[in-house]
Amino acid sequence: MIRLAIQKSGRLSEDSLSLIRECGISFVSSSYKLKTEATNFPLEILYLRDDDIPGYVQDGVADLGVVGQNVLVEAGLPELEVEPLGFSKCRLSLAVPRGEAYASVADLQGKNIATSYPQILGTYLAGHGVQANLHTISGSVEIAPSIGLADAICDIVSSGSTLLGNGLREVETVFRSEAVLIANRSLSAEKQNLLEQLQFRMQAVRRARRNKYIVLNAPVASLDAVKALLPGIKSPTVTPLAEQGWVSVQSVVNEDDFWHVTDQLKAVGAEGILVLPIEKMIS
Ligand code: ATP
Ligand code: MG
Repeated sequence: MIRLAIQKSGRLSEDSLSLIRECGISFVSSSYKLKTEATNFPLEILYLRDDDIPGYVQDGVADLGVVGQNVLVEAGLPELEVEPLGFSKCRLSLAVPRGEAYASVADLQGKNIATSYPQILGTYLAGHGVQANLHTISGSVEIAPSIGLADAICDIVSSGSTLLGNGLREVETVFRSEAVLIANRSLSAEKQNLLEQLQFRMQAVRRARRNKYIVLNAPVASLDAVKALLPGIKSPTVTPLAEQGWVSVQSVVNEDDFWHVTDQLKAVGAEGILVLPIEKMIS
């Protein structure tokens, strides 16, 4: 049995649980439980505060964990990371009061900065040759300047609306983060094997999320152009339509390229384009 620690309740919880479920692992979870066992995979899930996850994995209380890189690096344990998971993307940014003049990070020399990330921020400032007074606070960092506690802050930003609401202006990106899978460094051979099975499944789920299945009709004359636009995994599937001179083409397209490719497909005469989600993708 391998033990995986995930956040009990917060911004990582829902995506962590759905990733495990999409890996085909079934379990019953309830908000008041502290742990649960999967019914069809030798996995136990522990629900913890995100801050505690890196330390518990380092100590072997849990074998694996899902946590933000921001928390992992702040805990001084970046070496535990095994795999980025592609969700909970955010950045750690420096922000100053909107009316304040700001030209570069050198302007923060000698200033008071409030943050929950003194390690990451300290490393960043040192890298820029800046010395500042860091005040570590665990929450509501954005209000520190307006109550006279700090001249600037360094905090998690996703859209920037919280900063705006507190009269702050984002001036530097200090760190970019996403959720990652972490693992204890001395897993037994059996647990290492279970980790690899999990990674294989997670990769198949992530690849599927990034791709779409596409089906379309095209005149035979444009087949070469269509094939060039939709190379697929190996090559597209091409079947004749009942109507002479037409074929049906099936392939896989990356979500990032999707709209661009679709415009080009239409331009070469493709019609009846259907796009379907992919559940798992193993290549
Ligand atoms: P806990 O009670 O477990 O300590 P928390 O309040 O410290 O929770 P959350 O706010 O739930 O933490 O955020 C968890 C993680 O989600 C953060 O460490 C970060 O990696 C990521 N995160 C935070 N804010 C955002 C955001 N706005 N958008 C996307 N991801 C975010
Ligand atoms: Mg926390």
